[in-house]
Amino acid sequence: MTGAGWSPRTLAAQALGHIDAATRAVVPPIHVSTTFLRDADNQYRSGNIYGRADNETVRQAEAVIAALEGAGAAMLLGSGMSAATAVFLALAPGAHVVAPRVMYWALRNWLLTDASHWGLRVETVDMSDLEALRAAVRPGETRLVWLETPGNPLWTLTDIAAAAGIAHAAGARLAVDSTCATPLLTRPLALGADIVMHAATKYLNGHSDVIAGALATSRPDEFWARIRRNRSMLGQILGPLEAYLLLRGMRTLPLRLQAACAGAMELATRLAGHERVAGVLYPGLPGHPGHDIARRQMQGGFGGMLSIRLHGGAAAAVATAARVALWKRATSLGGVESLIEHRASIEGPDSPCPPDLLRLSVGIEDPGDLYDDLDQALRGGTA
Ligand SMILES: *Cc1c(COP(=O)(O)O)cnc(C)c1O
Repeated sequence: MTGAGWSPRTLAAQALGHIDAATRAVVPPIHVSTTFLRDADNQYRSGNIYGRADNETVRQAEAVIAALEGAGAAMLLGSGMSAATAVFLALAPGAHVVAPRVMYWALRNWLLTDASHWGLRVETVDMSDLEALRAAVRPGETRLVWLETPGNPLWTLTDIAAAAGIAHAAGARLAVDSTCATPLLTRPLALGADIVMHAATKYLNGHSDVIAGALATSRPDEFWARIRRNRSMLGQILGPLEAYLLLRGMRTLPLRLQAACAGAMELATRLAGHERVAGVLYPGLPGHPGHDIARRQMQGGFGGMLSIRLHGGAAAAVATAARVALWKRATSLGGVESLIEHRASIEGPDSPCPPDLLRLSVGIEDPGDLYDDLDQALRGGTA
């Protein structure tokens, strides 16, 4: 069915070229059945028993993600957070884990407040500093190193191959939240990560109409089996309608991402020279602290996410966001529509996010229109 040498764009466009056997439909049907007929001899030769564990539409979407990640197996869950927490909850109580100090805030919040209830011992480090990571891992005690690259909302880069070396030397697994890199810009598994995670809610689906999470691994091992079992036993599953929408959304991922990367690069470059902007955080800019790693680790673009820091602090940032017309003031990222957000307001008082920062998720609109709208918002009433 799949040509070994086909590019991700080709694989994605046809969702692996699946043709429905019964009808020859080019678009696969949505499988909604929660239960399946036993054979007369009491067996289940279809491989399907019950909907909590078995759904063909979910499997089709998983197969596309596995192909894009170059993975041995992929698994869909009900949200990005359920995918991330499923990895942590598959660890034995007492496990020591190392996570980034600056990362997707909800997961950071869960790790720092709730994870201890499951007996996890969480330590956070500056993941752009490999020496800090090396000092934080405890050989034989650390079971998981979690990283996010580029990491929210400063777009911090972590060298995945180096982090994998440090984690493995200590006997720990490495898991990477690769939501913002997508499977097209970075392949964490090829760089040595054991598990890659995506909030499929974001770029993979791309249309801000599905909440979903994905995990993928090179070698499905006993740890992977435990996550799978938990998914079914705890019911952290994705519904077939969401899986279908995700399958449809992923067909255009390469085109959407190309537009987002080009738009983000253009905006980052132009905003760096804007008089109201104190700094632009984008891995594609040569001055970004992670630029060299990004050049090695990201192929085909530096992503669609950037942040700007404003002269005038939090008040200027909030006021600027209030004045946009084309950009939408909303949380989330990775959709076709561009979003702007004052992250510090969302993340609360203990957030490491600078108060003068606005996070921009660049969609697929004309970058010139996006710049003009930001420019008028930045200049505000005083232009
Ligand atoms: C959105 C997001 C998540 C969480 O995904 P949900 O689908 O909202 O649960 C995790 N990591 C990153 C980087 C995200 O952007």
